[in-house]
Amino acid sequence: MNLHEFQAKQLLAQYGVVVPAGEVCSSAEAAQQAAAQLLAQGHNRVAIKAQIHAGGRGKGTFKSGFQGGVKLCQTAGDVFEKAGAMLGQVLVTKQTGPEGRLVSRVLVAAAPVIRKEFYCAVLLDRAASRPMVMASTEGGVDIEEVAAKHPKKIIKEAVNPSVGFLPFQGRKLAAALGLKGDLIGAGAKMFGGLYKTWWECDASMVEINPLCLITGPDGKESLMAVDAKISLDDNALYRHPNLQAMRDLAEEAPLEIEASKHNLNYIKLDGNIACLVNGAGLAMATMDIIKHFGGEPANFLDVGGGASREQVAAAFKIILSDPHVKGILVNIFGGIMDCNIIATGIVAAVKETGLQLPLVVRLEGNNVAAGKQTLAESAVSIIPGDSMADAAQKVVQAVGK
Ligand code: GDP
Ligand code: MN
Repeated sequence: MNLHEFQAKQLLAQYGVVVPAGEVCSSAEAAQQAAAQLLAQGHNRVAIKAQIHAGGRGKGTFKSGFQGGVKLCQTAGDVFEKAGAMLGQVLVTKQTGPEGRLVSRVLVAAAPVIRKEFYCAVLLDRAASRPMVMASTEGGVDIEEVAAKHPKKIIKEAVNPSVGFLPFQGRKLAAALGLKGDLIGAGAKMFGGLYKTWWECDASMVEINPLCLITGPDGKESLMAVDAKISLDDNALYRHPNLQAMRDLAEEAPLEIEASKHNLNYIKLDGNIACLVNGAGLAMATMDIIKHFGGEPANFLDVGGGASREQVAAAFKIILSDPHVKGILVNIFGGIMDCNIIATGIVAAVKETGLQLPLVVRLEGNNVAAGKQTLAESAVSIIPGDSMADAAQKVVQAVGK
């Protein structure tokens, strides 16, 4: 699950990372009021920022033609105008795909004078089997590009999780960013807060890009997180009701939300062969074999080890709601599952949905003979597959016609 920038900043602030003062708004009037308040507090400029689950907003374009999902303003009137141009509009960035994302909230925040932009993040480094705190002087821009062209410009500190992130590691990273004097201590504290956010929220990634060296109204330099992104580990969400409450369903694929209601693990993909499989490993193998025979899977769908008839029916409806689907492959291994229950579920779902698309079914395992009989005796047209390879070839062929 991903968080919005304003939510990520709220969390980081709780762990001692300094973020600009700001407020999230869903109307132009509220944005104007928030801006007026910030300006009255002595901030010279405010930033207005579209809140969507995608980066690259600064360089993005709205479908209306309006340029940029991040704008700097000097008056509350200007904020009113820009918020009006963003809210209710679809923003397309490098990360949203051509369909873009609807902007229903904007963050209005103090916009300090930025002297330097850094990058920093925490994630799990699988190769090192350690949490990794990373930093780079090349902030603000696309970090993937930096990683590809100038890998030496990304500095890394591995963390021993049983000891935690140590103060000397924070000072080392701060010094590597070229910070001097008091800013080394401030930087070390910031990195400590960043790591603590990652650890305590069970995040898979916490990123600040840019982390900025700013000059305050009094001329003093300090560090501030100007943009933030947090991805949480879904498997640990049950431990964090406060984070669960931050979920924004409008940012998630509607079919995936429907699937999670039925306890189905569904992920939409770009192909045209839908798969319905029990077990995540078998589902992966099924997608691989579809590709092996020249097809493209339309989804990943694991109905689990003990799916009910109702779940199978719900799964069918979900995969059929994807207009790109041109054929279906059901691949079930009855280990815990009774093949006949699945067969009954398939027949019921086909009748209920009035399925016209080619449907290939491969059943194997527990009570398979009864399952095959149920399919054969039903009036529905099903292409039986003998093995995984046979079934995959048959569905690829049926869709190709
Ligand atoms: P992204 O494009 O989605 O990553 O959004 P960012 O929040 O990172 O904004 C892109 C760029 O706009 C940043 O690298 C900054 O240069 C600038 N920017 C964003 N927010 C502020 C702000 O509050 N103050 C100032 N001065 N610049 C900002
Ligand atoms: Mn950014």
